[in-house]
Amino acid sequence: MEETFVEKTEEEPILKVEHLKKYFPIKRNFFGKPIEFLHAVDDVSFKVNAGTAIGVVGESGCGKTTLGRTILRLYDVDGGTVVFDGVELSSLKKSELRKYRTDIQLIFQDPYSSLPPRMTVGSIIAEAVKVHKIVPANEVHDYVLGVMKQCGLQPQYYDRYPHEFSGGQRQRICIARALAVKPKLVICDEPVSALDVSIQAQIINLLKDLQKTMGLTYVFISHDLSVVKYITDQIMVMYLGNVMELGNTERIFENPQHPYTKALFSAVPVPDPDAKMNRIILEGDIPSPANPPRGCKFHTRCSQCMNVCRMIPPAYLETEENHFVACHLYNEEIMRELDKYDAMYEEELRLQAEKEAEEYARKHRKRTRNSGSADGSADGTENSSADADGTTDGTADGTEPASTTADTTAEETEA
Ligand code: SF4
Repeated sequence: MEETFVEKTEEEPILKVEHLKKYFPIKRNFFGKPIEFLHAVDDVSFKVNAGTAIGVVGESGCGKTTLGRTILRLYDVDGGTVVFDGVELSSLKKSELRKYRTDIQLIFQDPYSSLPPRMTVGSIIAEAVKVHKIVPANEVHDYVLGVMKQCGLQPQYYDRYPHEFSGGQRQRICIARALAVKPKLVICDEPVSALDVSIQAQIINLLKDLQKTMGLTYVFISHDLSVVKYITDQIMVMYLGNVMELGNTERIFENPQHPYTKALFSAVPVPDPDAKMNRIILEGDIPSPANPPRGCKFHTRCSQCMNVCRMIPPAYLETEENHFVACHLYNEEIMRELDKYDAMYEEELRLQAEKEAEEYARKHRKRTRNSGSADGSADGTENSSADADGTTDGTADGTEPASTTADTTAEETEA
């Protein structure tokens, strides 16, 4: 396939993701064709300028990690585009992607399992340098020592094995391995969540310093909002595969707008003993992405949920410069017509109740008919009284007497 180059302008961001989708099949038909999908990433759009960092936050299962891996094309793209440095990665073949592999690197959450235990630190870092011919072969040793120094690793660690190091040092080795190939974009997938707090601070400072010296761009996936606040320029809040809010870090911390963001941010500790914590507790669990709620995906847990939220998914609106929110509360058109949506929802509920009552009555009729015929055959003879009952009850014409149906419908509607 031909590489697709997108025309670059002065302000063209280094990473531009538009309407990205990643669905995993969860059920197949007899012929093996997928018929049901888990919507892990569903219509996600954002852009990142070179030398800046975007934080992706949200609860477990919201699609943060899948998003990172889909950008890297570790998963195939099911819809939308990923444009990196003017090249549309989403349309490239695996073989064509190879030359962009060094430009985008991934730092994993678990430094213990992401390092090969039988290789020394020096050979782990040097491996990709040699494969991608980052420096001439005779300079690899010195180059690796230089990268190790930059990442706070002493030269004598060169010949040691990963099991000889602490968690923080292992994460430094992972960072050194990622940076040794001179990437432009680094996707950090919860890089400090497996470390204790003092080590977290060291690693975050190291990432920040390296960003300055090497001009790196980060996509920083984390559920720790204090860490995200410190290292990122923009924050994107995700819920069930959708973006709920996106904006500048400072503005989002000052003025979170989406009810989900407000709840998340209310849990961030404030370093002031006199400050009052107005914690918003989210009720219930995150719904299954295999069967997400209709309308706004957050409506089952939102304290400000309206009837319109149960029917119509919110539009993604720019509420202030570079601040986007997906919530009906900020849609003036919808808020002006709330009465109309309330009436629509009431009507929907009424029709639903009617349908359920009809279904119940139909099942009841069927049960009555079946039990009537079972009585008859159990006797082994024609039971005249059963026949008579059946006829009297109106089963002869296959319908329930009007009073029975009406009663059943009334009961069901009440229920
Ligand atoms: S659209 Fe409705 S349910 Fe969704 S976050 Fe906004 S107010 Fe809550």
